[in-house]
Amino acid sequence: MQALRWHAKGKLCLDDVGAPAAPEPGQAVIAVSFCGICGTDLHEFVHGPNLIRTGAHPLTGVKPPITLGHEMSGTVVALGSPVPGVEVGTRVAVDPCLRCGVCRWCLHGEYHICAKGGSVGLASDGGFASHATVPIESLVPIPDGVSDQLAALAEPLAVGLHAIRRATVQPGDNVLLLGAGPIGVAALLAAKLAGAAGIYVSEPVPARARTAAELGATEVYDPATTDVRREVFLRTGRVGPDVVVEATGRPELVQLAVTTVRRGGRAVLCGISGAETALPITQIVPFERTILGSLGYNHDIPRVLDLMATGRLDATPLLTGVRPLSAGADAFAELAAGRGNHLKILLEPERS
Ligand SMILES: [Zn+2]
Ligand SMILES: [Zn+2]
Repeated sequence: MQALRWHAKGKLCLDDVGAPAAPEPGQAVIAVSFCGICGTDLHEFVHGPNLIRTGAHPLTGVKPPITLGHEMSGTVVALGSPVPGVEVGTRVAVDPCLRCGVCRWCLHGEYHICAKGGSVGLASDGGFASHATVPIESLVPIPDGVSDQLAALAEPLAVGLHAIRRATVQPGDNVLLLGAGPIGVAALLAAKLAGAAGIYVSEPVPARARTAAELGATEVYDPATTDVRREVFLRTGRVGPDVVVEATGRPELVQLAVTTVRRGGRAVLCGISGAETALPITQIVPFERTILGSLGYNHDIPRVLDLMATGRLDATPLLTGVRPLSAGADAFAELAAGRGNHLKILLEPERS
């Protein structure tokens, strides 16, 4: 089979990697239907290695070249161990968090911050191939009525849902989102579901700002021309937003999040850029502002799929392109160059 593999920064190759092996106990092989290109994948392509280890990964022992792709849906074709509710032919999404299962965090259900954790598609071969071998605990059956295309969006949507759950957004809260890329948009949809009264968005790219407005943002600001902190302060009765979600990882926006959230409010940081920043302690301690990290998701993918199945969550606006896997490297180059105003491109392996 063909697989889109990361060899080094700037080097993605469509390689012939042979047929998938029979699954070991605890593993499943799925025929991939669709797999989305994530900002993380793009970051590895443009700036990596970041999360990819150049040596053997401590949990999986895998080292590059590595098949990217962790936002996938597909159909189970082989099971190395029985799984309740899953059989060959079951349509599944994948929760790509790899976990050891025995550390303090795994034992407390916080597998997403496992001491040895990693992700399918970064620490093991992922979904940019016709088949992917994944741990059986990562399989999430797709409810009837949810297409394989939309199910492949469950992973990025779960990141937004997790951030909103971390922030404990309550009905009537005012929320400010910094960035309306895929994760910002996912947080916007989740904030709506949580009953936020006002959802304010700061986004400089016009196409992304338009999408945020179409999806129900109360106001969308261009930070290049607007003092976002002041505007939201005035719009919230000179209080400030209850919650700020930082979805870019850019140091200046982390600063903005912490200094814009209201007294006693919660700033949730879910962007990872690798850049560090100093925190303004005098803006945090005297005002009892809370800063929360939010990493990925933790049992959020089944929630997203259930929200889709019951018609409460329409992920369609996130999807801006579907490309054959053979054109995957071109899609990466297009996204890296910022062409085409994309939110999410899915790659579809060709079936021969
Ligand atoms: Zn992702
Ligand atoms: Zn663990």
